Amino acid sequence: MKAEIVSIGTELLLGEITDTNSSFIAGQLPGLGIDLYWISMVGDNVARIAEVLGRAWQRSDIILTTGGLGPTDGDVTRQSIAAMLCEEIKVDSLLEVEIREYFARRGIPMSLNNLRQATLIPSAKAVHNVRGTAPGWWVEKDGHLLVAMPGPPGEMQNMWHTEILPRLRQLCPENIIVSRILKTFGVSESKLGETVTEWFRASNPTMGIYAKPDGVHLRLAAKAPTRQQAEEIIAREETRVRAALGDCIWGTDNDTLEAVAGRKLTEKGLTLAVMESVTGGLLASALADVPGASKYFKGGPVALSDEAKLAYGVSSRIISDCGSASTGTALAMAETVRKNLEADIGIGVTGTLPGEAGRTFGVVYIAVTDGRNPVSAEWSFPGDKARMKRLAISRALFELIKMLGACD
Ligand code: AMP
Ligand code: MG
Repeated sequence: MKAEIVSIGTELLLGEITDTNSSFIAGQLPGLGIDLYWISMVGDNVARIAEVLGRAWQRSDIILTTGGLGPTDGDVTRQSIAAMLCEEIKVDSLLEVEIREYFARRGIPMSLNNLRQATLIPSAKAVHNVRGTAPGWWVEKDGHLLVAMPGPPGEMQNMWHTEILPRLRQLCPENIIVSRILKTFGVSESKLGETVTEWFRASNPTMGIYAKPDGVHLRLAAKAPTRQQAEEIIAREETRVRAALGDCIWGTDNDTLEAVAGRKLTEKGLTLAVMESVTGGLLASALADVPGASKYFKGGPVALSDEAKLAYGVSSRIISDCGSASTGTALAMAETVRKNLEADIGIGVTGTLPGEAGRTFGVVYIAVTDGRNPVSAEWSFPGDKARMKRLAISRALFELIKMLGACD
């Protein structure tokens, strides 16, 4: 089944609100085995909505709309559907009673405008909305389905769970889609693409590659009649991908680098301390955000200046011999904080931000040490400061995970 979402509302096109309804619905469809091929956005205008819906009607089996079901002149989704299907729109007496009762129960006088929300076309059935006055529309005609839902996310999601989802489940019982994200670090999008190229041709599971601040993600999506069968397809493919990519995969699905690092430290009963300059405490903050972090993360100072590094115990000889931004100083920071806080592992991060010393990219020195196997390296990160800091802490966390993995 091919589906299409149409988000309706001029405020979306003006950039005043973000289209969260589409992402919500898009996230619901794989579980139903429904393929989503298009998402469109259109303002509150009958001709343009009817045009977008007409195109959707031609190419999709299921059209899901949100917005434009309110009582004002600007809410024209119903008229637009009627225009697209060339059907007459009329007040439905049963719906009128329901809406009048809704206002009576709340003790509010009903405006005549609200009668617009009691209208239907011959092919439409009203969909109950317990959260508001705007019923949805369920339109089945000529092998197509169009579902119109209200715009407010709370109303829409409630209607989705209570009314729409159960009906769609009956309509499309044949397949469900299960997806798995494998998160990598240290491999470029293009290199990863090359490695898994031959599998891209497969239609089940399908594969997608996405560059993110915490590395490159590989998404596998399998379709099968049951969840178990889809999960088996994914598991088979995941084994193949893991064999090809090896230890650059650090996590899956909702994992974050800091949570995976925390999990590995906990499993091994190890503790961590950090000393950072250029990342300004972002590394400590990310680590501290993980629930239960205080059990393994001892903390650590932000030592931006040489004075601070010296005060926290870094040797003045190393700073003067190697320079404040260097692999040597990063390692001294890691080793010093590890010893001072009596932790098993220390991380040191120092470097130069973009913009400093005429550079357009940042240079970061990251060291991780367990006292026996120190690792310290230089990394260049393009982009603005915020991006560079995020990439630097991702690299530091990945190096930590690698070290913890190597202790297996
Ligand atoms: P409407 O049903 O068009 O009158 O929309 C009422 C309100 O719902 C809007 O003012 C927004 O606050 C919210 N809304 C409408 N469409 C969306 C959407 N696609 N995503 C998120 N919120 C929306
Ligand atoms: Mg609107």
